[in-house]
Amino acid sequence: MNILFMGPPGAGKGTQAERIVDEFQVPHISTGDAFRAAMRQGTPMGVEAKKYVDQGLLVPDEITNGIVKERLEQSDCDKGFLLDGFPRTIAQAEALDGMLAEMGKRIDHVIDLKVDRDLLLGRLTGRRICKSCGATYHVLFNPPKVENVCDKCSGELYQRSDDSEEKVGTRLDEYTTKTAPLLEYYGKKELVREVDGQQDIDQVTSDISSLLRGQA
Ligand SMILES: [Zn+2]
Repeated sequence: MNILFMGPPGAGKGTQAERIVDEFQVPHISTGDAFRAAMRQGTPMGVEAKKYVDQGLLVPDEITNGIVKERLEQSDCDKGFLLDGFPRTIAQAEALDGMLAEMGKRIDHVIDLKVDRDLLLGRLTGRRICKSCGATYHVLFNPPKVENVCDKCSGELYQRSDDSEEKVGTRLDEYTTKTAPLLEYYGKKELVREVDGQQDIDQVTSDISSLLRGQA
C-alpha cells in the first residue's frame, strides 16, 4: 500500500501519519528525514545534496527526486510506504510516477486532510508565550487561568509575529496555491481520498484507515 499524505499546516497530518504507519506497518517517509539520513549515510545522492546544503543553496529537483528514489528503493518499502511532504510540484509528481513505474509500483491512495481555514487560523494563531519565563499556552487547547497572564510567574503573555493572523493566513494561502495543481493531477487519476480533518482525532484516523482498506 503506497500512500501519499496531504494536508495544510495545523490539520494534524503528522499525528495521523504516525498512527497510520503504526497500523499498516509501512515506513513514514518525510523528505526532511530522508535528506538527513542520506547525508549522514553518505549515499550518492546524499553526498550531492550536502554540497548544496553546506553552501546554503537550494537543492535542485533532480537531487531531491534522487533522494526520494534512494529511500523508496530500500527494502522496508517493499510492503508499502507513506510519503509525506513530497511531491510539492507537478514536475516532482511526474518524476515520482516515473521512478515508481521503474520499480513496478505506483501511488495507491492520496489522502487529502480537509480542515476549514478559519479553524486552522484558530489553531495556528492561538499560541501565547510568557515574556518573563517563556512558558507557552494556547488560547484554545491550553489557556492560562487568567487571560494573558502566566500561571507560573504572573508574567504577561504575548503572541509571536510568526503566529499572527496575517503570517499564518499567508502560509495557509501558499499551501492551497501550491497543492491545488497536485490535487488536480492526482484527481485525474482518481486517487484522491478526502478526509474530514475537523472530526475527533480518533475518528479521523478511523476514516483514513477505512478508506485505505477500501471499506469506505
Ligand atoms: Zn511566566
